[in-house]
Amino acid sequence: MSRNPFECHSWHSEIFQCKSTDVSHFYSLLEQEKVRLGLNRMKLGEAGGYPLWFMQSPEQNAGNHNMLISAGFHGEEAAGPWGLLHLLQQMDSSLFEQVNLSLLPLVNPTGFANGHRFNELGENPNRGFYLESGVPKPGEDTSLEGRILLEHTELLQAASCDGILTCHEDVLQTDTYVYTFEPAETPGAFSHTLRDALGEFFPIAKDGSIDDCSVQDGVIFNHFDTSFESFLVQQGARVGCCSETPAQQNLDQRILANASVMNAFLAMTKTPV
Ligand SMILES: [Zn+2]
Repeated sequence: MSRNPFECHSWHSEIFQCKSTDVSHFYSLLEQEKVRLGLNRMKLGEAGGYPLWFMQSPEQNAGNHNMLISAGFHGEEAAGPWGLLHLLQQMDSSLFEQVNLSLLPLVNPTGFANGHRFNELGENPNRGFYLESGVPKPGEDTSLEGRILLEHTELLQAASCDGILTCHEDVLQTDTYVYTFEPAETPGAFSHTLRDALGEFFPIAKDGSIDDCSVQDGVIFNHFDTSFESFLVQQGARVGCCSETPAQQNLDQRILANASVMNAFLAMTKTPV
């Protein structure tokens, strides 16, 4: 089986009382949380007339860890952005005393609005993050959104230097798993804590192969490719995780699982990873 990049997926959310593809509702609720939490916001660029927002906690404190959470690279993986919104709705601004939080809430708005994987130009926003002798560079398969992110490499590098979590879903799965990056031979507490946060909601994937990667105990470990997360780890992020919730399961459960894995990621900032 493989994923059709233009197959449209849409689910109803009881939590948000809307369809998963309701992009204007998403942006308006995000605006509310930005104001309530006093987040700083910068428009990195535009995709199909939608803003590509980068948001940060109000003050960046020198002693805090710098953690980046991104979501919505693939349009049909709706529970990432909605989960991030749910996280913000539950968040107390006292968290910002402990972490310098940065967010890319919705990287591929045209895919999200259409409920399909690629952007409206037919490009995959999570491929094409190249490094040539350590210098960031787009390639032929780099998307519009990818080019915008690459133009802001220094900003994103600083924002993620203590960790990057990027929230994806897998429409072919009923089980959950994670891609993780740690400076180690084998997965450690970082990998297992995030996997277990998702494992509270869904069965953990059995050992075997997913997308030609070896998965063991629900973890695909230190797999480097041209994805955004792999790029940031190569650019110095200490740890990285790409979480995968199973889109064959109920949308609201996936939203709660995404908020939970983000919380677990941030909780690790209180003790050294
Ligand atoms: Zn994805």
